[in-house]
Amino acid sequence: MPPVPRLLLIEDDPAIRTPLLRALRERGHAVASAPTAMEGLRAALDERPDLVVLDLGLPDVDGRELLRMLRAVSQVPVIVATARDDESEIVRVLDAGADDYVVKPFTAAQLDARVRAVLRRGGSPAAADETIVVGALEIDPRSHAVRLDGTPLDLTPREFDLLHYLATRPGEVVTKRELLTEVWQIPYGGADKTVDVHLSWLRRKLGETAAAPRYLHTVRGVGVRLAAPAPADGSLTQSGVSAPAPAGGPEGGP
Ligand code: CA
Repeated sequence: MPPVPRLLLIEDDPAIRTPLLRALRERGHAVASAPTAMEGLRAALDERPDLVVLDLGLPDVDGRELLRMLRAVSQVPVIVATARDDESEIVRVLDAGADDYVVKPFTAAQLDARVRAVLRRGGSPAAADETIVVGALEIDPRSHAVRLDGTPLDLTPREFDLLHYLATRPGEVVTKRELLTEVWQIPYGGADKTVDVHLSWLRRKLGETAAAPRYLHTVRGVGVRLAAPAPADGSLTQSGVSAPAPAGGPEGGP
């Protein structure tokens, strides 16, 4: 990751754009902005930012369409800002290639936390055979061994693949469609409970439940994210900041 991450904020509303630009710069990012989809696309290609924050409601081209256009030509990480706290909408944009999302109204601190989590992930992609450590969880793809607090866990090959896939994307919400496509390599069926069943088996082996998660956090109606548990002192971690944005952030409404 470069010393100062360069962000591109594509947002048409100056009442959101201006304070957000200022707040993100105060938090140490270099931020450019674009008020329309087409200007945003041009800036994304010309300036090659490290991350794009994309408002879905843009005047010229729908944000979802812009995401598809951007994905066709660039792997730049994208965090989508949506005004609709709508599960099916969020699943659609994640499946269309967004890396994460924030729901308006959100605070600059919340967006900053998401930006840092996505950049951390993108900055040092784990090699396919590299051991991944998330909190006290160690996942070694070479030996298919998983340890929790140093204790080996007995996982089936599918449970291992599922956990490993999530662990390569710590802090990221992964949709069930993506898991079925990437882990099971089967097309998504609407009534398919395969993912839920394997997640519940995996939870049991990790010694946690959906109601009291430590590593596997369900984002209801959207998917699941793997994150290290919050430390005992209660300070914020990836899992600590992954809660839905509370209403009434200082950046104002959609
Ligand atoms: Ca807008």
